[in-house]
Amino acid sequence: MHDQVKPDMMKAFEKVYDSHWYIMGNSLTTFEKNYAAYSKTKYAAGVANGLDAIIISLKALGVGPGDEVIVPSNTYIATWLAASYVGATPVPVEPNSKTYNINPDLIEKAITKKTKAIIPVHLYGQVCEMDKIMAIAKKHNLYVIEDNAQAQGTFCNGKISGSFGDINATSFYPGKNLGAIGDAGAITTDNETLYKKACVIRNYGSQKKYYNEVKGINSRLDELQAALLDVKLPVMDSWNKERNDIAEKFSSQLKGVGDLILPFLAEGCTSNFHLYVIRTKKRNELQDHLTKNGVGTLIHYPVPPHLQEAYKEMNLKKGDFPLAEEIAETCLSLPMYPGLKDEEINYIVQTIKSFY
Ligand SMILES: *Cc1c(COP(=O)(O)O)cnc(C)c1O
Repeated sequence: MHDQVKPDMMKAFEKVYDSHWYIMGNSLTTFEKNYAAYSKTKYAAGVANGLDAIIISLKALGVGPGDEVIVPSNTYIATWLAASYVGATPVPVEPNSKTYNINPDLIEKAITKKTKAIIPVHLYGQVCEMDKIMAIAKKHNLYVIEDNAQAQGTFCNGKISGSFGDINATSFYPGKNLGAIGDAGAITTDNETLYKKACVIRNYGSQKKYYNEVKGINSRLDELQAALLDVKLPVMDSWNKERNDIAEKFSSQLKGVGDLILPFLAEGCTSNFHLYVIRTKKRNELQDHLTKNGVGTLIHYPVPPHLQEAYKEMNLKKGDFPLAEEIAETCLSLPMYPGLKDEEINYIVQTIKSFY
């Protein structure tokens, strides 16, 4: 991926370097305009990382102490942490057992008088069933913040991820489908008031230099990262397409092998295959076998948030969210990146078959 864009990346680097302007300048403004256009939202605001993007979104909405925020039980911990950081309580909801995304049918049961917002996470790159989630939010007067860190460029019934919620968060961590050369993130929204609030919060609570309206934070997207992201943005769709082609090859060749459960897309939902996640009861043994044969794999994620040391104060125990726990115990992410060659795909498939 990086070889393909390297000349343009170096040019962008040099341009910013020579501009002598490194924070809050033209590169950021340009990238924000382009990312908003890509996301089919009126506004995009660059921030320092994906976690901050969720935190700032919650702050802009006024979610805080005493409020409850519905989050998936099956997610990366960032989603929960954002709710915790603004003083709200994360309320986990179990996933659909096939898509691994939050199960819309279970959301209503988790709603209380204190619920303020839902944060659906488009896990592994597949967009959640957003039409159902938006309908529930509307019925109960709740805010929706998409955690779009893993799913840039995916669609639910023709509408792009990051354009459904009141305000949405994404991450440009280097390993995401649109990755910076360091930490970066963004917020997308159609709501001008929320956009303006987010811009103020990310910059010390200030619109006019040295005049602070609110207690903000320092979470700006720097000029270099913005300029580099702008080089990659127009190429991302072709990379996502390549990931889909690779996923199709894996799925057709691994169908019916052993006890493998392969990725499943919900009706009307697409994926950018940020990850290609298979499941098996023999996960650890299969991972060992692949490692021994030179195939690197990862587990996303080995411990669900409710069982993390960080959340021990919630007194949640094993068995409380059995589906999230089962996914954690059985999931395995195969190699997945644009540039993965057919012979490598075949080798990975053969190695898995030889295990069974
Ligand atoms: C990566 C990720 C984040 C956080 O992004 P950072 O840029 O690393 O802070 C949040 N949510 C999900 C689902 C992620 O995968």
